[in-house]
Amino acid sequence: MKSYLTLDEIQSDLADGSISCIELVTHYLKCIREQQALHAFVEVFEEEALQKARETDQKLKQGSAGKLAGLVLGIKDVLCYEGHTVTASSRILQGFESLFTATAVQRLLAEDAIVIGRQSCDEFAMGSSNENSWYGPVRNPHHLNKVPGGSSGGSAAAVSAGLCHAALGSDTGGSVRQPASFCGIVGLKPTYGRVSRWGLIAYASSFDQVGPLARSVEDVARITQVMAGADGHDNTASPHPVDDYPSLLASATGQRYRIGYLREALESEGLDPEIRRFTQQYLQQLAAAGHEVKPVSFPLLEYVVPCYYVLTTAEASSNLSRFDGVRYGYRAPNVNDLETLYVKSRSLGFGEEVKKRIMLGTFVLSAGYYDAYYTQAMKVRRLIQQQTLELFKRCDFLLTPTTPTPAFDLGEKTSDPVAMFLADIFTVHANLAGIPAISLPLGSHSSQLPFGIQLMAPHFEEARLLAFSKQLMDVCLSK
Ligand code: GLN
Repeated sequence: MKSYLTLDEIQSDLADGSISCIELVTHYLKCIREQQALHAFVEVFEEEALQKARETDQKLKQGSAGKLAGLVLGIKDVLCYEGHTVTASSRILQGFESLFTATAVQRLLAEDAIVIGRQSCDEFAMGSSNENSWYGPVRNPHHLNKVPGGSSGGSAAAVSAGLCHAALGSDTGGSVRQPASFCGIVGLKPTYGRVSRWGLIAYASSFDQVGPLARSVEDVARITQVMAGADGHDNTASPHPVDDYPSLLASATGQRYRIGYLREALESEGLDPEIRRFTQQYLQQLAAAGHEVKPVSFPLLEYVVPCYYVLTTAEASSNLSRFDGVRYGYRAPNVNDLETLYVKSRSLGFGEEVKKRIMLGTFVLSAGYYDAYYTQAMKVRRLIQQQTLELFKRCDFLLTPTTPTPAFDLGEKTSDPVAMFLADIFTVHANLAGIPAISLPLGSHSSQLPFGIQLMAPHFEEARLLAFSKQLMDVCLSK
């Protein structure tokens, strides 16, 4: 089968009969089998995907197929899909079956996307390397001894290796963009509230967003447009009108933008020298193409990671209290009283990273420390939001590398949590501020690994962000 960059190409081949949905699904199933060493999928919905493909082929013949017919999609193991197991890649949810479907997934299904399987991730989406999955680590298709990034590592690895056409991940602090960067694909975190969180297993509710991973900006635009918008099940899903992102993709043509790059990011000491050099050269190219490129100062950069980890662990400690061995999934055997049931189920059901974060979050919310940590971090978050919005008065986009380094070795950072947390230094900013951000696979390292450039835009400016991204990718692909 030919390698399709966009769903448009697939759909034009479907239209002239040169391919069918059944052939597409069969092809991806074969690739999944051949590439099991990646560990990208934790479950493949083989029969069901084939059945759905047959139905979609019928609909195509009758002219009644939805907008996303031909899209073969993987979903991160934190998205509920009625009648299917969902575990957040945790032991504590082993055997748990979704009672309803996440709105984001439902809307794609309604347009005839085919869900081919469930993809591994860091447990409860906590991690930057996919090494915290109960199912074991996922490997980077560009280099099997490297991590794919996290927490949506299975999704990124699968799309990058051609095991599905696109995937849905979730991004609380970079979990769509960072693995997209490590695996050489496109990943978007929409504005907070752009996509409903109904049916997304919560990590940190004031940060979490569902986001697509794909090989092209076009597909990211199409998927986002279908998923986005108000939802009666989630009051934080915004009623802000959803632009027609795909048809606006050409709107950046000929436009000149004001692009601010964060000086502190480019000067940050953990930044790989090659990524720094590439970013600087890239900025020069943008200036040469007529954009107004300028350094902007964001002195709060050094506080984003600590602020993020205080607030997200606080929210996680509350969100994860529902997993008590009584209502969901894993229950410790041989216990006689309720207290012991809670303690044992949670101690055995959660992995180390999750337990560490629940304890940290409980600590920052505890009576004696609440003001010193939680309240203080909330204030810092507000300042980060304010300073970021100030920057957008002078710039249309903010640019940074997506990650300070390309993909690192499996096991390299597992014993150094601070080093692991710093992998998110450039991505958590957008979640703290609630703004949309995209990672574009523009860079290529001498180690043969890809890396991404991140663009951030003001709230609900997805249309412009995607249009500019498309322009940048077109230039890159034409080289
Ligand atoms: N790596 C970050 C964390 O561990 C981000 C995770 C995410 O976006 N879900 O919290």
